[in-house]
Amino acid sequence: MFDVVQTQETAELNVWQKRPFGSSTRAVHGQLDGRRPNAHHALTTPLVQTATYTFTDTADLCAFMDAKMWGGVEGRGEYGRYGNPTVQSAEKRIAALENGGDALLFPTGMTAVTNVLLSILPTGSHIIFTDDCYRKTRVFVSAFLRRLGIESAQVAMGDYDALEAAIQPNTRIIISESPTNPYLRVADLEKLAQIARRHRGVKTIIDATFATPVNQKPLDFGIDLVIHSATKYLSGHNDIMAGVAVGDAGLIHALRQSQGMLGGVLDPHAAYLLERGLKTLQLRVQRQNETAQAVAEFLEQHPKVERVWYPGLASHPDYAVAQAQMNGFGGVVSFEIASASGEDPLHTTSRFIDAMTIPLIAPSLGGVESLIEQPSLMSYYELSTEERLTIGIKDNLVRFAIGIEDTADILADLEQALRVI
Ligand SMILES: *Cc1c(COP(=O)(O)O)cnc(C)c1O
Repeated sequence: MFDVVQTQETAELNVWQKRPFGSSTRAVHGQLDGRRPNAHHALTTPLVQTATYTFTDTADLCAFMDAKMWGGVEGRGEYGRYGNPTVQSAEKRIAALENGGDALLFPTGMTAVTNVLLSILPTGSHIIFTDDCYRKTRVFVSAFLRRLGIESAQVAMGDYDALEAAIQPNTRIIISESPTNPYLRVADLEKLAQIARRHRGVKTIIDATFATPVNQKPLDFGIDLVIHSATKYLSGHNDIMAGVAVGDAGLIHALRQSQGMLGGVLDPHAAYLLERGLKTLQLRVQRQNETAQAVAEFLEQHPKVERVWYPGLASHPDYAVAQAQMNGFGGVVSFEIASASGEDPLHTTSRFIDAMTIPLIAPSLGGVESLIEQPSLMSYYELSTEERLTIGIKDNLVRFAIGIEDTADILADLEQALRVI
């Protein structure tokens, strides 16, 4: 049944040095499973832009169907919804980066979230999620799944006693982001995995979009499944949408079967661009980590900034956890602008954003271009200031998703924009 099991040990070990390959080597080469040539000896993975695959004659078809009944066929496909070589190549590369047995790509991050949850949770089950999570994930869990007879409980990020107390006999999933959006709270992954293991049948899922496997590998801490919006850092160029789930080969195989039915598959062209983006993931994220740390430190000492949220700062509530389990703290910095005397903080903050020249105003993060936004207007526009406060979003909050521009240029831009307000 588990026809997608991979020979991880031989594939991942650098045989000369007896240690795992680093992130950059894996990002460029995937699992290094030998110098097997691509079709036409192309260096890059060919873009196999096809909806279906042909059989030479009926005997060929029957041989394929027989082999499929015994666990699958290497090297050929049947129909686009059941797999594509370009997509599979990108999947293998992401699995290698996350230390996972296998990975499954989806057309968006949200398809990854919704398909995984729909596939694992039966009617009458229960899911626990942490607060400060992606808005659409929260709505899907608390409203959409509820309609299907799946109950949920929300617990405060960082309150592990409350988390364990929320577990019921029918709880199947604990899902959390790490770091979260927009306050960059970091879950103690080892603690989370240990709590789940004490209870039968509970699986842990981490949406690690903000971290990337460069900064954090949740599977190494005992988490069952990692999800990313690959629209963000993994593809890295603000030009495609994709999502991915990574875990052990058995779980991914089951999710793949379910995907073949639900139908949310990634287009091969997007997979080609994703793989191209992955090759520079390590370089991009390193630069983004460095600039974000410098930006966070600069903003923290600036009189016109009230508060900075960045897990690489000692002032962040999860600084210690982040230091212990992350290699870097990511490219997003959130901060609160001090209001000019007598002015509505919403407007002072908008004036600051409008004065910035390098970052573009747009939702999303993780691409080469810096993006900036005021969450109260970008994500919660229809709510009043008071309603926004009840979910923890202040009007003077800025989310700055740093790109790969020069650090000095970004710092100078911040300095001039803060001078204006
Ligand atoms: C963007 C994002 C998603 C949704 O991904 P899409 O690719 O936009 O569907 C989910 N989780 C997090 C943390 C995100 O940032």
